[in-house]
Amino acid sequence: MRGPAERRELLKGVFEEAQNCRRCPLHATRTTVVFGAGNADADLMFVGEAPGANEDRQGLPFVGQAGKLLDKLLGEIGLQRRDVFVVNTLKCRPPDNRDPHPNEISACEDYLRRQVDLIQPSVICTLGNFATKLLRGDPTGISRLHGQEERLVIGARAVRLYPLYHPAAALYTPSMLDTLRADFHRIPELLAQGPPEQPVAPDAAVEEPMPEIDVAELEVETALAPGTADADPASQLGLF
Ligand code: URA
Repeated sequence: MRGPAERRELLKGVFEEAQNCRRCPLHATRTTVVFGAGNADADLMFVGEAPGANEDRQGLPFVGQAGKLLDKLLGEIGLQRRDVFVVNTLKCRPPDNRDPHPNEISACEDYLRRQVDLIQPSVICTLGNFATKLLRGDPTGISRLHGQEERLVIGARAVRLYPLYHPAAALYTPSMLDTLRADFHRIPELLAQGPPEQPVAPDAAVEEPMPEIDVAELEVETALAPGTADADPASQLGLF
């Protein structure tokens, strides 16, 4: 079992890898890779669609009008951004805020899965159609699924998936905003239930032998890292 500090270190590695990502054509038009931000050990994670113009400029998710609504709804249930982790299905902005393309979603999916694996949330709220369809692996739309919790196994872990309307869509449609707010207000109840029943790892009972550690190698690694130990870009950028 990896502890929060180890998982955060590994998340930093994924963050650093994503900074130079060229897996899809969006790398050519992005200003910043919007990796995600918040508490790297959060119980609650939000997965949006893709960065917009503000997010692309600032390198942070949900900093525009939709983000303000997200903050307001979080506040209504007694939470702040620093209590949760917020990511997007795509880490780079599609030009003119067009819908994500399937090749972009599949190129980026691995980052999202590794984020979920390392943050280990109990509850994942997918915001809108793209995140919901991707994580469920099914084309059923958000208007049929919003507000309905389901257990979903992602990688090695089970989470409570809780699809919600996207705040950007709810901004201009009062009835959708009412529904989003009502769904949102059930989040504390889901969090209180803790993680869902976890899948049994087939080799859980098998003791892994301890790997042999070459101490000399460790010393070389330490020696190669002077001055870089405190250079934590994720912290410096206020991400997590
Ligand atoms: N919409 C999203 O899906 N993500 C953002 O970061 C901003 C708006």
